[in-house]
This record gives sequence, structure tokens and C-alpha cells, in this order.
Amino acid sequence: LLALEGATVRFGGRAVLDAVDLEVAEHEIVCVLGPSGSGKSTLLRAVAGLQPLDSGRVSLDGRDQAGVPAHRRGVGLMFQDHQLFPQRDVGGNVAFGLRMHGVSKRQQAEHVQELLDLVGLPGAARRAVAALSGGEQQRVALARALAPSPRLLMLDEPLGQLDRSLRERLVVELRQLFGRLGTTVLAVTHDQGEAFALADRVVVMRDGRIAQSGTPLQVWQRPADAFVARFLGFEN
Ligand code: ATP
Ligand code: MG
Repeated sequence: LLALEGATVRFGGRAVLDAVDLEVAEHEIVCVLGPSGSGKSTLLRAVAGLQPLDSGRVSLDGRDQAGVPAHRRGVGLMFQDHQLFPQRDVGGNVAFGLRMHGVSKRQQAEHVQELLDLVGLPGAARRAVAALSGGEQQRVALARALAPSPRLLMLDEPLGQLDRSLRERLVVELRQLFGRLGTTVLAVTHDQGEAFALADRVVVMRDGRIAQSGTPLQVWQRPADAFVARFLGFEN
């Protein structure tokens, strides 16, 4: 479904994405792990069409996406800082992407309700976004990203502000949901436990490059190098 070939992004002469090659197959759930500043968000933004490449390319279904604007790529992105619309209520935020898809008002309302149940905010559709906690806002953003059922869903720290018990519950529910919908997912997380529970494949980034890519078990049992081992918390 998705292929990056030699994808490179530079800021001030420094390669923040450094010739990255990555493929994501249809229905695959890939989690990107790596330290702060390693280029994880930049990778997602490049795929979404929000960050132009300096060289290399991004293809979806074998088609080069150079020059294709973000809203025509058919991918969904949930931002790290969620970027909700403060002037709309919760339901208005979740339904945002549905309006463009020509879904009827009634179907929209039903779908919004289902999504809010799923993320643990039942009955919150009429609440003001500004009156929600950070974790609640994050759940609204997750529901909004899921709403149009994009073929490739990209999540940047989707559960970052939630408490542990909710994260653990949501990870299990998300994995089931993605399996049921057949959604292809590229998700960034700091939390290895989350990555290992959610992902079919884990990608570890370091300084704009992919240090290792493999199944959770492969990466856990055989870290590719000392950096990956240290990142996973092994002594050496
Ligand atoms: P975190 O885990 O903290 O979110 P990240 O892996 O998502 O980190 P990125 O946001 O991709 O990291 O940033 C990678 C590097 O690129 C960082 O050093 C950052 O300062 C730099 N960077 C990102 N966006 C820009 C920009 N628009 N202009 C200049 N530098 C940038
Ligand atoms: Mg980031």
C-alpha cells in the first residue's frame, strides 16, 4: 500500500529523514518507535503530504505522490498535539471528516456515537471541546481520525496523554477494531509496551534512519545493534 524510497527531509542542512526506505502492506499495523527528535513525526507528515521531500519518494498503491495534496491522498493523520477545532463541539469535531464524504446527517450522528463509545466518551457529542481534559481531547482526536475510515491511518502518539489503564484497554480495542475494518495503520509511539501490543511490525528510528524493522518478537529477541538494545532497556 505504502512505499517510501530514499525519503529525505532536511532542515538547515541536517537530514531529519535520511534516505528512509519503508514499505507498509495492506492491513498491516506498523508502529514506529524511537527517541525524541529521531524523525517520527516528520515521517508521518511526509506520507500525509504535509512535509515535502528534499529527495526520494512516497508512493501509495504504486503511485508516486509527489505534488498530490494532503486531502487527495486518502490517508488520515492524528496529530501529536491533536489540533481539534475549539469552536466546534465534540460531535462536530468527530463528524468533520464525514461531511466531506457525503454521509447523511442521521448516519453521521450514529457513527459519531459509535466512535465516542469506542474511545470511552459515550454521550459526549454536545460537550464543548475546550471544557475537556487533555486526555479526553486526545480521545476525541482519535475518534475524528477514525471517522472517515481512511485506507491508511497514521497516528502520532495516539494515547500519549492517557492513563495506563485506559491505554491498555484502548490498545486491545484498537487492535480488534483495525482488524475488523482491515485498516492499515502507521502509528508513532514512545511506549514500547503499546507498540508491541498493537503492531504486526515495529520500526525503530534513530537520527532520521531506520535502525531496525521486524516483528515485535524479532526486535525484542534480537535487537539489531547496541542502540536498539539500549532503547528497549537492555543493559548492553
Ligand atoms: P518527538 O518524539 O519528540 O515527537 P520526533 O521523532 O517526532 O520527536 P520530529 O518532530 O520528526 O521528531 O523532528 C525531528 C527533528 O527535526 C527534530 O530535531 C526537530 O527539531 C526537527 N524539525 C522538525 N520540524 C522542523 C521544522 N519545521 N523546522 C526545523 N526543524 C524541524
Ligand atoms: Mg513527534
